[in-house]
Amino acid sequence: MATVEWRSPANEMAVRQFEIAAAKLNLDKNVAVRLQRPDRALIVSVPVRMDDGNVRVFTGYRVQHNDVLGPFKGGIRYHLEVNLGEVSALAMWMTWKCALAGLPLGGAKGGISCDPNALSRKELQGMTRRYTAEIINYIGPEMDIPAPDMGTDEQVMAWVMDTYSQHKGHAVPGVVTGKPVAIGGTHGRREATGRGVVYTIVEAVKHLNMELLGSTAAVQGFGNVGAVVAKELAGIGVKVVAISDRSGGIYNPAGLPIERVIDHVTKTSKNFTLEGCPEGEPIGNADLLELKCDILVPAALGMQITGSNAGNLKCRILAEGANGPTTLDADEILKEKEIFVIPDILANAGGVIVSYFEWVQDLQNFFWTEDEVNKRLREILTRAFYEVLDMSRKEKVGMRQAALMIGVHRVSRAMLWRGLYA
Ligand code: NAD
Repeated sequence: MATVEWRSPANEMAVRQFEIAAAKLNLDKNVAVRLQRPDRALIVSVPVRMDDGNVRVFTGYRVQHNDVLGPFKGGIRYHLEVNLGEVSALAMWMTWKCALAGLPLGGAKGGISCDPNALSRKELQGMTRRYTAEIINYIGPEMDIPAPDMGTDEQVMAWVMDTYSQHKGHAVPGVVTGKPVAIGGTHGRREATGRGVVYTIVEAVKHLNMELLGSTAAVQGFGNVGAVVAKELAGIGVKVVAISDRSGGIYNPAGLPIERVIDHVTKTSKNFTLEGCPEGEPIGNADLLELKCDILVPAALGMQITGSNAGNLKCRILAEGANGPTTLDADEILKEKEIFVIPDILANAGGVIVSYFEWVQDLQNFFWTEDEVNKRLREILTRAFYEVLDMSRKEKVGMRQAALMIGVHRVSRAMLWRGLYA
């Protein structure tokens, strides 16, 4: 790579994963060299008037990896560890994820390096609006459509949509997805990622001839993705024995009462965390990953399963709700241990699939019921699951490599058809 700005452990991991898939596919080297780096990377300064009267300048990013299949699509992350390398990796994964799901969309990601929990509502709104204004010429329903990711939610998306619309002089709901239903959001988007993770787990359980009822699960992360995964798993008879978030975790071998835990987080806790939840014994985040269980779902940060703890995992299925939770060296260990991996670009694709539905509904001004949304989501994810399984058998590779090979192949095929402009 000519420059080093987007070098980071996450980006090196994403690029290496791509290289492995590209080699197996025998990818045209002129296409491969282009796909290793993003189309465009923006770094913006985001000045915000804080509640104490001072102006603080945050750093924001929007990385657009590839739009050969359609407009860029990807979330906005608010987290202290956001940097150009991480955002670039996430943007690249979005490209493969959209292609794997068969969506007419490309890959992008954005974010601001900040701790959203330490900001007041007014500061959060100011930061979101100024960030949107800084990238406004590079987003839009036909160009790049952001969505929520870690640390952002439907309120943040509503502010992005409003800021963009104020600049255009009319309402433009199609500029973001994951909005409230009241302003053009879709039914089922908030739950889509977690629900999709569970749909793929159900297929994996069938494939492995396991019994769903009474099987056990542990979930790391209890936000938009993790809480929905836990609730949906409990709803189909899986015993969720442990969950965790940034405040720590809770464990109960008999199964946690997920509805009561959600009530604690949303109604009782002061900071919307599991802190002080009386429903189980305390357990640390690292210990949760090594629990004996049938299904393990990392649904928080990247790089949680590494060369140093992968050997201690005791699950049968690893369903990656988070993006990039498993490092390359860990992958090798998981293969030896015969742990069945449902890779991130497949397991958590439900979010972007229903985002795609939301965008389509906004463009047509015609809205679907939640049943229609869920039915179509399940169809797309199930088809993608079996395409990946078939590829993995045919090419004798793991599920991650198979998923990447399908995504990379579809993008490169489109690039070769379109050719190199000037
Ligand atoms: P969120 O902000 O709603 O929740 C994140 C959760 O992770 C919170 O419970 C937080 O407390 C917890 N957490 C933070 N640091 C932690 C730590 N060190 N250990 C354990 N838990 C920790 O975010 P989200 O939208 O649920 O996203 C979670 C993951 O899923 C991210 O990797 C994200 O990229 C991925 N993802 C999200 C979507 C989506 O639609 N929101 C779609 C695809 C993938």
